[in-house]
Amino acid sequence: MRSLREVTADVLTLAGAVVEAAAPEGLEVVAPMEVRQALSIPEWSLLGFGTELPYGARRVALEPDGIFGLRRLIQDRGRYLRMWLQPEISAKPPRDLEQWIAQQITLENATFRVREVTPAKTRYLLLSFRLAVVSDEKAEDLIQLCVNESNLAIADSMVEPLLKRLAEGNGWNLVDGSDFDLPPPWSARRVEEYSTKVLPPRVKLRLAPFLAGMERRMERDLQRLHTYHSELRDQAKWQPGAKSASNVGQDKIKGELSKLDWIEREYFAKIADTRRKYSATAEARLDQVLRLETEVWRVHVTILRKKMSRPMHADFCKICGTFERLPCDSCRNSGKTFVVCDEKLHLLCPVCSSPCPSCGKSFCRACRGTFCPRCAQRLQNRSIQDLPHPEG
Ligand SMILES: [Zn+2]
Ligand SMILES: [Zn+2]
Ligand SMILES: [Zn+2]
Repeated sequence: MRSLREVTADVLTLAGAVVEAAAPEGLEVVAPMEVRQALSIPEWSLLGFGTELPYGARRVALEPDGIFGLRRLIQDRGRYLRMWLQPEISAKPPRDLEQWIAQQITLENATFRVREVTPAKTRYLLLSFRLAVVSDEKAEDLIQLCVNESNLAIADSMVEPLLKRLAEGNGWNLVDGSDFDLPPPWSARRVEEYSTKVLPPRVKLRLAPFLAGMERRMERDLQRLHTYHSELRDQAKWQPGAKSASNVGQDKIKGELSKLDWIEREYFAKIADTRRKYSATAEARLDQVLRLETEVWRVHVTILRKKMSRPMHADFCKICGTFERLPCDSCRNSGKTFVVCDEKLHLLCPVCSSPCPSCGKSFCRACRGTFCPRCAQRLQNRSIQDLPHPEG
């Protein structure tokens, strides 16, 4: 991973500044007008990045708005990149591809046959989202999705190897976009629809530790409130049942009752406040899109159920040396075990093929959406506990 100093130097150079290294861990910058205005720095300045700064240097650190306001300088540049990545030449597909795929997919009510393995090309769409979470604490994170544009297979395990190959400089921009061996690139609308479907469960998974910590803090606060108000209540003198046994006057009883009322109202108001304080909102913004094109070994598979068949394919990425996982045709998450639907032979994960909890009818969520065709009940989206780990 490149250091903050290297990234800053690159961006400033691209923006027309003259940059030179200054010890220790600093940069000397002569900036043109555009850079001066964007970063509010003078024509000559000294920037420091380490624990020890060069004399008179201004410290540069990661800030919520990116590095040192560089986002203002970059603006919308660098948000989309399309590259061809050339794998090392390999004349033959790995021997065990057919066997491998047979081990990776379990169809509960259908069979499949591997037809052939052919060389092919595909596009991996790598989407990087900036995730901002606001609760009693603020947190920022980066979340990435990688999908094969030819078959919607989730290829998250390929993010690192593809980025590594890209960083090595082993890729080039294609001037000509009309390579008919490649699948058609998704439109912006399709990318948006896909992300809207696939991202929320992943965000929940990513935030699970954060949310668990928040829940612990909330439980602790609720427990404190409960203890405090229980003690207040116990201190109130009037006790139900003690009324007839004692000679307490009516006025006193009324006074104690209104005190108990007040304690109860106060308790529930505080609980509502605490729950509000610990509610969290998360926002994911698409920050960067990489469309990486490369060669794959394509395993052509036919799904067979009753007298119907459906051709599909899974790709073996030559650069990453791994297979992507086929997705559920409804929720688009990857899985190992699928149920095949009767109508269109959709592959369905266990959650998307589960029976309607209201009437018990099993139906395909890819064919019918989230409404049960028998009782018209709208089914909840899958919950976080239902989710298999992506790629898992
Ligand atoms: Zn599913
Ligand atoms: Zn139903
Ligand atoms: Zn279906």
